[in-house]
Amino acid sequence: MTSEQDRWSRVKGRLRSTVGEDVYTSWFARMDLEGVQDEAVRLSVPTRFLKSWIQAHYAERVLSCWQAEMPEVHRIDLTVRSPVRPVAPARETPAPAEAKRSDGRHAPELRSTATAPVSASHDALGGSPLDPRLTFASFVVGRSNTLAHAAARQVAEGRRGDAVMFNPLYIHAGVGLGKTHLLQAVTWAGNSGNERKVLYLTAEKFMYGFVAALKTQTALAFKEALRGIDVLVIDDLQFLQGKSTQAEFCHTLNALIDAGRQVVIAADRPPSDLESLDDRVRSRLAGGLVVEMGSLGEDLRLGILKSRVAAARGHHASFDVPEDVLNYLARTITHNGRDLEGAINRLLAHSKLNNQPVTLEMAEREVRDLIRPQEPKRIKIEDIQRVVARQYNVSRSDLLSSRRTANVVRPRQVAMYLAKTLTLRSLPEIGRRFGGRDHTTVLHAVRKIEALVAKDIALNEEVESLKRQLQE
Ligand code: ADP
Ligand code: MG
Repeated sequence: MTSEQDRWSRVKGRLRSTVGEDVYTSWFARMDLEGVQDEAVRLSVPTRFLKSWIQAHYAERVLSCWQAEMPEVHRIDLTVRSPVRPVAPARETPAPAEAKRSDGRHAPELRSTATAPVSASHDALGGSPLDPRLTFASFVVGRSNTLAHAAARQVAEGRRGDAVMFNPLYIHAGVGLGKTHLLQAVTWAGNSGNERKVLYLTAEKFMYGFVAALKTQTALAFKEALRGIDVLVIDDLQFLQGKSTQAEFCHTLNALIDAGRQVVIAADRPPSDLESLDDRVRSRLAGGLVVEMGSLGEDLRLGILKSRVAAARGHHASFDVPEDVLNYLARTITHNGRDLEGAINRLLAHSKLNNQPVTLEMAEREVRDLIRPQEPKRIKIEDIQRVVARQYNVSRSDLLSSRRTANVVRPRQVAMYLAKTLTLRSLPEIGRRFGGRDHTTVLHAVRKIEALVAKDIALNEEVESLKRQLQE
C-alpha cells in the first residue's frame, strides 16, 4: 500500500512537470488514488465535471505518467468519489448526459432553464453589477457605432428558441467608446423583455467565479449555472488570464454556441490581437460577427452630452447647459465618452455648489484638463506592415515570409521595431504576427534598428517619416 502511494506521488510529480503548475493545480490537485489492480489504476476526483474534463483532455497524459512508473498499467479508471461531507447544494443532481460533439470530444449537455434549478445555483456565479443608466434608451447612435448597435439590438430582442444569427457577437473598441454601455443595454433589454435569462459578467468575474468555485468544489454548480442561461455577455475579455481559466472559457464558449445559446463579447482589441488566448479560441471568436466601434465623431459626442444633460435634469430640474457650451464641449473633448460624462458631472457640481448658471467661461475653466491636445491614434500592426512594405517596395507577404535576402530583412526589422515602439504588443505577439517568428528574433530586430538609427542618419530619417505616416 505504501509503495503504491509512493508511486502515486511520483506519478503526480511527473504530471505536475508535464502540464505545469497552473494546470496541475486546477485539474489534478484533488485527484486521489483508489487502488491498482493488475493493469488498471483506479483514480477518483470530487466532481463529475473534473472527471469529464480530465477524460477529454488529459487521459493519455495521465496514463503515460503511470506507465513511466509502472509499464504494466494499461488502463485508467476515473471515478467520482462521493463527498465525505456534502458540499454546497447537497441535493443530488441527475448525471448530465454526455453529448458527443462533432469533433468527437465530450461536451457536457446544456440543460434548459425550465428544468435546471437556475435561480438557486445562479448564486454560484452571480452576475456583475449593472448600471441602470446604461440602456438602449440612453445609447446614442452615430456613424461609428451603427452596426454594433444594430447587432446588439437584434441579440437583445431575440426570444428563446429563435435561431441565433451571429454567434458570438464580438464588439471591440478603445477605452470609453461605449462597449460596456452597449453590453449592459443588451442585458437589461434581454432580461426585461421576455423569458430569457441574460447574464452579464466581466472577464474578471468569470475568472474569479471559476477559481472560487474550484476552490470550494462547486465547479459543477458553477458550470450548471452558466449553462442555464440563454445569453452570456462577457465584458473586457482582454483581461481573461491564466491557462486553466482560458481552457474553461473555451469549453464554456463551445458548449454554449453548440447548444444555440447566444454569446456576446466586448474587448479593447480584435480577436486576432488577444495574444494570451490560444488559436482555437481566437478562431471561434472570429467565427461570429466581429464589429469595431470607432472613435466618437463630433455629432455623436454632442448627442451623448445632450443625453447626459437630460438624465441629470431628471434629478436637478434647474440644471441647464446652453447650446454654445454643449458645442464647445463636443468640439474640444474628443477623447472618449468617459470624459464627456465627467465634464457634465463637473458642470453640474459647480453650478449646484455655487448656485450659478452654466456659462462658457465656467465650462472652459472647469474642463480644461479634460481637453487633450491630440488624441493618440491606435496603430495596428497591419498598418505598420502596409506602410513599411510600400516604403521599401516589397509586398506584405515578403515581410511575413521566411526569406532572408537583404532587401526584405531590413524592412522586416524596421517593421518589427515600429511594432514594438508604436503599439503595446508584446514581443511574442509581434513575432506571431510576423509569420510566426520567435520573440528573440523580434528582440534582435528591435535592438538592431535601435542601434542603427542612433548612428545612421538616413535610416533615422526614414524611420521618423514612417512614424509620421502612421500617426497621421
Ligand atoms: P467602454 O466600456 O468602451 O470603455 P463605456 O461603455 O464605459 O466605454 O462608455 C464610457 C462612457 O461614455 C459611459 O458613460 C457611456 O455611457 C458613454 N457613452 C459611450 N458611448 C456612448 C453612446 N453611443 N451613447 C451614450 N453614451 C455613450
Ligand atoms: Mg468597459
